[in-house]
Amino acid sequence: MNEYDTHTIQSELVAGGHQLVESPADANLVILNTCAIRGKPVEKVNSLLGELRKERRSGRDLTIALMGCLAQLEEGQELARRFGVDILIGPGAITDIVPAIRSLDEGAETFSSLDFQPGLDTHLTPAPSSLSGFLTIMRGCNHHCTYCIVPSTRGPEVSRPVEIIMREVEAMRDAGVQEIYLLGQNVNSYGLGDPGLPSFAELLRLVASSGIPRVKFTTSHPMNFSSDIVDAIAETQNICNYIHLPVQSGSNRVLRRMAREYRRDRYLAIVDEIRAKIDDVVISTDIIVGFPGESDDDFEATLSLYDEAQFDHAFTFIYSARPGTPSHRHFEDMPREIKTERLKRLIERQKAWAQTSNQRFLDREVRVLFKDMARDGDYVVGHSDQNHTVLVPKEQVLRLGLYRVRVDHVTPHTLYGHVAGSRPEAIPLMMAS
Ligand code: SAH
Ligand code: SF4
Repeated sequence: MNEYDTHTIQSELVAGGHQLVESPADANLVILNTCAIRGKPVEKVNSLLGELRKERRSGRDLTIALMGCLAQLEEGQELARRFGVDILIGPGAITDIVPAIRSLDEGAETFSSLDFQPGLDTHLTPAPSSLSGFLTIMRGCNHHCTYCIVPSTRGPEVSRPVEIIMREVEAMRDAGVQEIYLLGQNVNSYGLGDPGLPSFAELLRLVASSGIPRVKFTTSHPMNFSSDIVDAIAETQNICNYIHLPVQSGSNRVLRRMAREYRRDRYLAIVDEIRAKIDDVVISTDIIVGFPGESDDDFEATLSLYDEAQFDHAFTFIYSARPGTPSHRHFEDMPREIKTERLKRLIERQKAWAQTSNQRFLDREVRVLFKDMARDGDYVVGHSDQNHTVLVPKEQVLRLGLYRVRVDHVTPHTLYGHVAGSRPEAIPLMMAS
């Protein structure tokens, strides 16, 4: 989400006559587009702001803007005051960046905008000059998970109009984009409660019908993850067989305390349906360890759910008590050592299943998008339809695009392979390098 917002901010700046520079050292204005989901990113902003203030004190003429989720919170506003931030803009008002600069140029001391502006839904972001593009289909969140700051920072759910989404899709397709990532906190709530909008399953089919070779989406919420979505993925060739479906915990007691609206059995039933209907599907999840009050038995329930679901991949987090959330207000955090010990055990489980899962692809062909020449030693890095990181010897990829790659070797994190056949499946000439 933040990356898409950053792109929108960049487009606004360029359209407003400003110039982007490669390095913050060359900038007159530095924008920190922040995340506030856990304590760690907040600490990082704190130290970056400290460095910027130091430079300013040593004479550099610099305007500092704090944008994104942290700007929306009292915690961020306090940082802004402490470090002398000039521009404070929340995630619901990102298109205010150009007016903010103008206002400072006209003599204002500071600029602040923290509203959720309706115009953001219809704002058209120019297609990126990349083979892969993000596209926000909805903003905000109507859930109230007790650990999460997002509903406070991003406001209630708003689905963007389908015509605007499709215009963006077509603009990206015409610019040669090979992969579109549909984004939202809970994409499968798209259109809920608005009879004028398609359902998420219908939207998926519509976006896929544009002819974009790859359509991916994130994040799905187990609530409202209905069979029509599974069918749309199973029946549509260019909707990728990759589903990120955060479970957070395998214990019903913890799920209740987190205020997640499903229980273990329902979650596992969705996984069963997905695996039964979609060939070669890859399922990933998010798990939080050390939620307040999580007992040994609760944690064991998470491990056993992991084994039942046989996740192909998981993003694992230590619970971070975020000021302003119900769990921070009402529950006591547990000792760090217990949390890190549990995280270690969970990561071991994750690696073992990832290795098993990746072995399924050994000696087979996968379709890989190389969207830039990112290198890892002697290899170029790309991503498969199912979102695997795939490494191929660098001399085999001379132009960007989609390739068929034969997998020779796997680790829990990576598929290693070689290009099968000498020609990429599709070379968008406009962007070939
Ligand atoms: N809307 C998505 C998740 C968005 S946040 C969903 O509900 O599935 C991404 C992930 O960050 C969450 O899935 C959760 O695992 C993690 N997360 C959110 N708040 C957290 C906190 N306070 N501490 C640790 N992890 C957290
Ligand atoms: Fe946060 Fe829950 Fe909303 Fe996801 S669904 S953004 S975890 S409140």
